[in-house]
Amino acid sequence: MTRVAGIHHVTAIAGDPQENLDFYAGLLGLRLVKRSVNQDDPTTYHLFYADKEGHPGTDITFFPWPDGRRGRTGTGQVTEVHFAIPPQALDAWRQRLNDHDIHTDETTRFSEHRLRFRDPHGLHLALVATDTTNERAFTPWEKTPIPEEHQIHGLHAVRILQRDATPIQTLSRDILGMEPIDTDQGWTRYAGQDPTSGYLEIKENEDAQRSRGGLGTVHHVAWRTRNEDESTTLQSKIQDHGLNPTPVIDRFWFKSIYVREPGGVLYELATEEPGFTVDEPLETLGETLVLPPWLEDSREKIENILPTLDLPYETNQEP
Ligand code: ZN
Repeated sequence: MTRVAGIHHVTAIAGDPQENLDFYAGLLGLRLVKRSVNQDDPTTYHLFYADKEGHPGTDITFFPWPDGRRGRTGTGQVTEVHFAIPPQALDAWRQRLNDHDIHTDETTRFSEHRLRFRDPHGLHLALVATDTTNERAFTPWEKTPIPEEHQIHGLHAVRILQRDATPIQTLSRDILGMEPIDTDQGWTRYAGQDPTSGYLEIKENEDAQRSRGGLGTVHHVAWRTRNEDESTTLQSKIQDHGLNPTPVIDRFWFKSIYVREPGGVLYELATEEPGFTVDEPLETLGETLVLPPWLEDSREKIENILPTLDLPYETNQEP
């Protein structure tokens, strides 16, 4: 049976792009692996942060909308995004976040200690101390002040709250092949084929408020497939189930299919290949604006509209 492997990436909505860059690349020490534009609105950025090599499952991406309105967390979306850190890194991260006036609180869920906080535009995040960091594909990024042994290893989980969780459970479990592996305080944790590469956690709460998209909310979560064949196999299953997936869309760094489940959550299926080095070398990933071919003719115009971004680390680019 074709099953998704785990999380491929999460895409969320931010405010000012420089603030977003300073937080994810500066404070959290991720690498900006791709600087592109929103293909549906090329006058705004699409920024991708990951480990040094941009492994699937390490990647969080943002549409920065500086003039957008604040969203509201609730049902029908991913409400919280968790990153994996090695257990010995927890104290250092608590200190680092507090030194930067980021308010944190701490809980233990699924026997894992987690440090919860928000990004500058309100997105709910957590760093989770987990041994899965020993097993997952990860390449440290040497241009961050975060020592290698403390670096974020990628996405650990996404949490989804629904008034009626049955439709999303059915899609995730019966169609995409994620298996329930644990429960804790009303939450059920699901794992794909590769349990180290990011979990899905779902809770049903019939009184939960409905979400509203906007700054500080997740736009969609992408689940990882090995290749286009796996994606189209799952696409047929989704169709047979009565939902309405998109055709395959070529995002250059991966191929994507989207489907919105009845409760409102937008899922994407994204292929592992070809990855972020398909259109620029590993050494200079993210340092210059990358455009899809059909927008190359408008490059000058687009570059004039987009605000300049200052990377919080030195670049390899020739001046
Ligand atoms: Zn996506």
